[in-house]
Amino acid sequence: MAKPPIVTTLAELRELSPTVKHFRFAFDAGDGFPFKAGQFLMLHVPQDGQPPVRRAYSICSPPHDAGAVEIVVKRVEKGLASNYLFGLSANQRVTVDGPYGAFVLPTPLPKHLVFVCTGTGIAPFRAQIQTLFKTGVDATTRLTLIFGVRYEDEVLYDEEWRGLAKTHPNFRFIPTISRPRHMPAPWTGETGYVQTKLAHYAPPTPETAVFICGLWDMISAVEKTCRELGYTKKQIHYERYD
Ligand SMILES: Cc1cc2nc3c(=O)[nH]c(=O)nc-3n(C[C@H](O)[C@H](O)[C@H](O)COP(=O)(O)OP(=O)(O)OC[C@H]3O[C@@H](n4cnc5c(N)ncnc54)[C@H](O)[C@@H]3O)c2cc1C
Repeated sequence: MAKPPIVTTLAELRELSPTVKHFRFAFDAGDGFPFKAGQFLMLHVPQDGQPPVRRAYSICSPPHDAGAVEIVVKRVEKGLASNYLFGLSANQRVTVDGPYGAFVLPTPLPKHLVFVCTGTGIAPFRAQIQTLFKTGVDATTRLTLIFGVRYEDEVLYDEEWRGLAKTHPNFRFIPTISRPRHMPAPWTGETGYVQTKLAHYAPPTPETAVFICGLWDMISAVEKTCRELGYTKKQIHYERYD
């Protein structure tokens, strides 16, 4: 059942890549909803004389960032909600409701958390990884983020990930580019699809759990590879965008 609508203010919008923008919606004083890292909200797209159309977006900010929620959105050709969002300007009022979803961190935490995503599938993992470091994750708990995009300029929040990897030896950031253009500099990191990185960076152990987020074709390819490597179904969790 839908939760009560909340009118927010678009406090910040930032272009992250040629097709992706980051949005921060500030709640009015006394408004908002508690949520868990990994959950999503529903965005309302106003319709003339009709009820709004609602679309799901994973919250990419952590719950401790009280007073606002952030999302990261890819512009889809002729897409209703994504084009509505891309047409907004700062300070416009935007209605959301939430939270929803069960794609949240398990308790107790496994010893190795492997996050696998492509494109805006990064959203719930940004909320979760920031939450884990804020709440003081045990230094022996390993976090591996395998993030696939087509081109070098599509690695969302690249600096944030590289910063975290520098300050937290238990966090590994593995960006992988499927169609490197070697611009503006030669790409020396991983290339190819995310599922081809699992055997090396995330071989199964009983203490490992894999979290996957994005479009179904990628999720099913990653799940298949995980199963071939020996992961059990219980060790694999996913959030599907399409
Ligand atoms: C739980 C959940 C969380 C989600 N979180 C995010 C998120 O954090 N960021 C985000 O960008 N999207 C997210 N999505 C997808 C989002 O809800 C919309 O489906 C997406 O933004 C397209 O909506 P639209 O109204 O612009 O396009 P529509 O008018 O609904 O669709 C236009 C066409 O584009 C296709 N399409 C839909 N999504 C994509 C895509 N990503 N790439 C290519 N084609 C697509 C549709 O199948 C359709 O044919 C999430 C979906 C779910 C279910």
